[in-house]
Amino acid sequence: MAKAPKNAISPTRAEDYPQWYQQVVRAADLAETSDVRGCMVIKPWGYALWENMQAVLDKMFKDTGHKNAYFPLFIPKSYLEKEAEHVEGFAKECAVVTHHRLEADGEGGLKPAGELEEPLVVRPTSEMIIGASFAKWVESYRDLPLLINQWANVVRWEMRTRLFLRTAEFLWQEGHTAHATEQEALDETAQMHEVYARFAEDFMAMPVIKGAKPEHERFPGAVDTLSIEAMMQDKKALQAGTSHFLGQNFSKAMGIEYQGEDKQKHHAWTTSWGVSTRLIGGLIMTHSDDDGLILPPKLAPAHVVIMPITFKADDPDAVLAYCEKLAEDLKQVTYDGQPIRVELDNRDIRGGEKTWGWVKKGVPIRLEIGQRDMADDSVFMARRDQSPKDKAGVGRQEFLDTVSDTLADIQNTLFERAKTFRAENSRVINARDKFENYFKGDKGGFALAHWNGDVEVAKKIQDDLAVTIRCIPDDGAIDDLLGGPNEPGKCIFTGEPSEKRVVWSKAY
Ligand code: AMP
Repeated sequence: MAKAPKNAISPTRAEDYPQWYQQVVRAADLAETSDVRGCMVIKPWGYALWENMQAVLDKMFKDTGHKNAYFPLFIPKSYLEKEAEHVEGFAKECAVVTHHRLEADGEGGLKPAGELEEPLVVRPTSEMIIGASFAKWVESYRDLPLLINQWANVVRWEMRTRLFLRTAEFLWQEGHTAHATEQEALDETAQMHEVYARFAEDFMAMPVIKGAKPEHERFPGAVDTLSIEAMMQDKKALQAGTSHFLGQNFSKAMGIEYQGEDKQKHHAWTTSWGVSTRLIGGLIMTHSDDDGLILPPKLAPAHVVIMPITFKADDPDAVLAYCEKLAEDLKQVTYDGQPIRVELDNRDIRGGEKTWGWVKKGVPIRLEIGQRDMADDSVFMARRDQSPKDKAGVGRQEFLDTVSDTLADIQNTLFERAKTFRAENSRVINARDKFENYFKGDKGGFALAHWNGDVEVAKKIQDDLAVTIRCIPDDGAIDDLLGGPNEPGKCIFTGEPSEKRVVWSKAY
């Protein structure tokens, strides 16, 4: 009888996807739940991944003219009340500070005291507090455009939380910009949408569909919300980043006015855009397998891990010295414009345990080096995008000469694999019964189907099937999945005319 395949992660993806996800996060030591409901502890390996994401995004923001700044964590309640739709959208999720100190309660404990005159809301997003500053900073058309980004934490009191994907407190960046004209603000919204798509595809190796949200899924207070949507390995969609065109709604609420060249007062046009630590959840669910995390090389905290095998060596120090020299040589090699990131793991633990530890942490290239490899002037190498059994000896110099290309190949393989998976799990659907059948039970993926644009129709499908419109795709955004241009047709629910197919899916 054939031996059942052994995997490092139990349950496997096929057995129990949500549980598999939790186990991958735990096995890679990325994060853990905390005693505070819905809030997570991001551990060093997870935080290093976030820092790499931040570094790339930060550069992209600066290359497009934005500057970083920092604004208060607290927003006066009255500010939030100034934009009706905005406050309505966020009110249910707001943490509110009502007191500013603690005092003895007479029973050995403490009680809140010093009630605030006006309650402060812990920012769920910062349009209002940043808008208040913008109102002060902007006087003339010469002060525009104002292009600001903030790296921060925000709090949304989410009821159902999951590490990285949805937490009550999360880390993110929020861009906020003000412009003299509507067109400039629209261009900015589109530009940052494109920046997010480029980041997801070129760095996370996560294919995304760019599109606009239907009206009922827009950011509260936005005129238009653009999003990037990715497919996870359970075939559900993840909204991975959003860019909002806010029109003049927030500039009117907060009084962001400028004097134009015409000497008249005008309200500015504003945008906001954000991605969060949710991206880490997306990265995990796009690439990882039943042996744990798989990291795209461009964002991996370590590109290469070297494991000296000194256990049976005649001269353990010589093996270690050989490995140290290799680590130094590797750091002289560049990949994606940066020195190769190397981890040398000389901990005194069993070889198998050590190797599997790094498999589960997702490091792209693993090297096991013992006496024989040293004698042959070689290394014993494994790629994380291949089976753990596929290890092979490579000459040391050859390895150094090709490591950069190997990392590029891993990055590319992950992206192509994810694209193939998405293509295999996307379907053009032209009839309601086929649509319903496609999503029955645990099945489904992305359905590309016509819709008449009526929000009520979309809401009904959501209630009946738990399927939502992920986005109204940009021109060209799903041509590869359709095998041609996205042409007009008939709504599969009403028979009414439809401008183009939209993307439907179950979602996170
Ligand atoms: P929004 O301000 O609602 O457009 O969200 C901006 C970004 O934060 C989007 O990319 C969302 O996917 C992400 N996001 C929203 N809520 C959460 C949450 N509870 N945990 C993690 N990320 C979130």
